[in-house]
Amino acid sequence: MSELYKTIIFLGKPGCGKGTQAKKIHDLGIGFHFSTGNMFRNIDETTDVGRYVKDLIDRGKYVDSETTVILMQRTLNKYVQDGRYNPNRQYLLLDGFPRTEDQVEMTNGYFNIVKVLHLYVPEEVAIQRLRERGKTSEREDDQNEATLQERMETYKQETEHLLSKYPNKYDVDTSPPVEEVHQKILEILGYAL
Ligand code: ADP
Repeated sequence: MSELYKTIIFLGKPGCGKGTQAKKIHDLGIGFHFSTGNMFRNIDETTDVGRYVKDLIDRGKYVDSETTVILMQRTLNKYVQDGRYNPNRQYLLLDGFPRTEDQVEMTNGYFNIVKVLHLYVPEEVAIQRLRERGKTSEREDDQNEATLQERMETYKQETEHLLSKYPNKYDVDTSPPVEEVHQKILEILGYAL
């Protein structure tokens, strides 16, 4: 089963545009967008696990890797069974996973990582984008200055160094307009128009 998960990883700091760009690829039908952040936000907040996850997200900390991996595998299996995600026809567009060394190790052999897209933008630009998103979205983690700073720190400490693990990594500057970045990503994926 697992080697069927032909995967494209979207990696980069909060606010770099992972979700925006992965969704655009999803909308073309090429891939299935799976965001661990969305997965966590969809958990019922009145359950123990829901409260635990919300508290961490609101403080800009990562959810522990065991919970993350178990929930991710369970959710993916459900999407395959429901027919929402077809691993034979679609790339898995992984947005926000892996984020730590142990997440990489725990899923070793689970994904066939075709390409890693490293989306990069200066930190100040990313923070500004998150502040803007916070004005119109429900996301409390985008509305709190301390949380924004903490998310950047967590990324630098836990995630940034993972980039050196991937020889099939492509750097994508996400300072240009969304559509321009999208075209660049399509080119990298071999779908140049
Ligand atoms: P962003 O990348 O903008 O911070 P996400 O929606 O990807 O937003 O993630 C929101 C939050 O969900 C993270 O700050 C973290 O608390 C949690 N989260 C998402 N993915 C993971 C993961 N792979 N491991 C641990 N925590 C995660």
